[in-house]
Parts: sequence; C-alpha cells; structure tokens
Amino acid sequence: MQSGESIMRGFIAEAFLQISGRTAIPEIEVAFRPAAGLNHSIRIRDRMIHARISDILRVAPPEILRSLAFILVARLFRQRAEADHLRRYRDYCYRPEVVREADLARLAQGRRSEIRSAAGEVYDLARLFVRLNRLYFRSSLHRPLLGWSMRRSKRILGHHDDLLERIVISRALDDEDIPEFVVEFVLYHEMLHLKHPSRIVDGRRIHHTAAFRRDERRYARYEEALEILDSIV
Ligand SMILES: [Zn+2]
Repeated sequence: MQSGESIMRGFIAEAFLQISGRTAIPEIEVAFRPAAGLNHSIRIRDRMIHARISDILRVAPPEILRSLAFILVARLFRQRAEADHLRRYRDYCYRPEVVREADLARLAQGRRSEIRSAAGEVYDLARLFVRLNRLYFRSSLHRPLLGWSMRRSKRILGHHDDLLERIVISRALDDEDIPEFVVEFVLYHEMLHLKHPSRIVDGRRIHHTAAFRRDERRYARYEEALEILDSIV
C-alpha cells in the first residue's frame, strides 16, 4: 500500500504537468502536519515543491487528495482551480466528521497560542467592549475572552473565535497613532460575530451575512473608520 505522502506526490506531479504545461517535474516533498483546521501550503524553493497538508486529510479518499493537489498547484501558479476540483474538495470539508476534526484541531491550536491581556499599552479592550455593548447591543452580549495578539499583524486586525469564545485584536492597533474610534470599530466588527453566527449556505460557510453588514454600517463613524483602516494595511 502506498503512503499518503507518496500518493499526494503523484497527484501533485500530475497537476503540475497539466497546469504548468511543462514536461519536467521538479522534486516534490509532501508532509502531513497537524494544523489549525484545514490549512495547507505549497511553495517552490530551490526548484523543489514543498507541500504541507493538514493531517486531518491523511484519511481522505484519493480523489479528494487529487482535487486538493490540483487546487494547490493552481495556487502555485496564481490560477483559479477548476470548479470540479473545488466542489469535490469543499463537499468533503463540509462533511460533519471532517468539520468536527477541523474544529478540534483549531481548538487545540488556539489553546496553545497565547494572547496578551485586554489592557494594552494605549487601549483597554475590556473598557471598549463595555461601552460598545451598551451603545449598540443594549448590553446584551456575553463578554468573551478579550485580548491583544502577540504579533503586530497588519493583515489580520481582528479575529473572533466562537469555539474558544474569544476576540483577539491585533497589537498593531494598540498605538497612539491609531484613533480610538478605529480600534473600537475593529472590536465592534468582531462583536457583531457574537450576535450573527456564521451560516452554511450552499455548502459554504458565510461569516458576513447581509444582516451582519447592515449592522456594521450602523457604527457611528463607519466610513471614516474604514478609510483609516485602508491606510493602515
Ligand atoms: Zn468578520
């Protein structure tokens, strides 16, 4: 019996030939790794393809791994994968047993990743939470774990994790140069996730429903906050 690694290497080679149009295949290294959820990565370095696959997929049927190989290689060439591959892969990911595995992996990873307390150097998330909760939610929201991220990410400014019941805000915003209402808006967005849980529509998880977006625009300085956020990223 072939190992998952060698099966995946074969699929990546097949996808590479088809998508790149080349005739020579670079060396391919595949590793199944524990990851937070269904996260995979692929890159070329020193003419070698390195693929990291979430070990949740170790037990996936070969046709799913083949579709994933085509999706990843397309990503390598900045192309959109064929719809059939995307559909087959997504359908698999939304099977209840796979969702549960991914949730458990995310939970385990989340517990390991540390966050800083809500009281930052400039802003106190707990204080902002209470104020926003009163102004926009009639103080109806149950307070989750609040904290600043360890890293100063400018790409991910806020994150809400319903499984861990926590909201993490990027430490890049705990800065005198960032106006308070901008930090508040990022927190407000994450708080809206507490009010509007994600939904599965046509097999895809929708995090920002129409009702969510409507509520988001109720923020007093919505346009202004967005403008400043655009200039940060
Ligand atoms: Zn969001």
